[in-house]
Amino acid sequence: MPKGRIVKALAGYYYVQDGDAYWQCRARGVFRKRGITPLVGDEVMYEVSGSEGTVTEVLPRTSELVRPPIANIDRAILVFSLAEPAFNPQLLDKFLVHTEAAGVEAVICLTKADLLDDGDKLAEIRRSCEQMGYPVVVTSSKGQSGLAEIRAHLAGNLSVFAGQSGVGKSSLLNALFSELQLETAPISHKLGRGKHTTRHVELIYLPEGGWVADTPGFSSLDFHSVRDITELGLYFREMRERLGECKFRGCLHVNEPGCAVRQAVDGGDIQSSRYEHYLQFLQEIKERKPRY
Ligand code: GDP
Ligand code: ZN
Repeated sequence: MPKGRIVKALAGYYYVQDGDAYWQCRARGVFRKRGITPLVGDEVMYEVSGSEGTVTEVLPRTSELVRPPIANIDRAILVFSLAEPAFNPQLLDKFLVHTEAAGVEAVICLTKADLLDDGDKLAEIRRSCEQMGYPVVVTSSKGQSGLAEIRAHLAGNLSVFAGQSGVGKSSLLNALFSELQLETAPISHKLGRGKHTTRHVELIYLPEGGWVADTPGFSSLDFHSVRDITELGLYFREMRERLGECKFRGCLHVNEPGCAVRQAVDGGDIQSSRYEHYLQFLQEIKERKPRY
């Protein structure tokens, strides 16, 4: 039985791509009975009779994103603008907690390079992102720069672009895939953020291999993917690396004696802003209301 990937779900049909072949499929009723809803991104077994196909089996997922609903995402391009809106390191750390918790590789994309004249500022932001252990790409959709580097990160992966409204996600997707023509919106000065447009999600197949969701993902985040405060330190890479070095098991790196993370912050090996954000998120998680 052939195997393909669901690239679009619309009006009860699943569109399955298998190499150059593209099939409009129904899902077999057995899924509904077992409570499985096929998702865009799913690898599936299918069979064909006539011009239509049937999805017969959904293969195990490696990840599942809720917004947009896509299975098997393995890379997130976290889009932050260097200006308008200004770079927001706290939000970046929030996104990184989210991708680490989901087991998704993150690439930090800094957009609107054409709007930032200050080379020192750019170098500082870049250095700080790289020190956290993530690849950084600086782009300008207006100046068409950094696009090849982004494409190199997309090759062979199933990727989603994520970031606040107005940072230039749609412009970047349009610059990368000129055939898309996504709607972009000027920033409203009153709200300080771009307009939001919703549409169904579809995967774009890349000639170099891999897939990209044509819809930007998770623009706002809560911490419900972090089940417990003791988990949070695992989602800061440079803290996770030092976990075994803390004197106490389950160290929260707040005021426990012999804490390797606090030593690294004092010694400058962990950025103090990252540590501050960690403490803020810890507080947020402690104060959150349980979700029923
Ligand atoms: P999204 O909400 O993240 O999808 O952001 P959009 O792509 O809609 O862009 C928001 C605004 O920023 C629009 O007015 C774009 O024209 C502008 N913009 C996007 N990318 C760039 C860029 O590289 N340079 C400049 N100068 N403006 C950009
Ligand atoms: Zn510690």
